[in-house]
Amino acid sequence: MPNRPMPVFPEPDTQAFWEAAKRHELTYQQCNSCRGVVFTPRAHCTACGSPDLAIKVSRGEGEVYTYSVVRQNRNPSFADLGAYAVAYIDLDEGFRMLSNVVGVNDPTKDVHCGQRVRVEWEKQESGDYPIPVFRPI
Ligand SMILES: [Zn+2]
Repeated sequence: MPNRPMPVFPEPDTQAFWEAAKRHELTYQQCNSCRGVVFTPRAHCTACGSPDLAIKVSRGEGEVYTYSVVRQNRNPSFADLGAYAVAYIDLDEGFRMLSNVVGVNDPTKDVHCGQRVRVEWEKQESGDYPIPVFRPI
């Protein structure tokens, strides 16, 4: 899927995430006040409202929380892809993100809830920002 739409900047909440993605670092935020884990990137803690957030680098491993298989997509960036798995991934550091499970022969049979996965970075022909996707381990 090398032609996904790219993020558009300036965008104050997510720009640091995408700059880290260039280094193949999957980042999340942790609140310095209540230690809550925050994802997606934002300006305040979702638990206590504090703006004092630290950026952390995830090990990039977790498990499939749930998933669905997309068989058709009208967006031209995804048209040639065929069936693919869209999944919520629970990272070991305690945040959940929406991504894809890649590297399986048949996403209707080879992806399951609880499956261990690891992040990898999909290079894009359409821009400078690689996309985090997950492969079973
Ligand atoms: Zn907090």
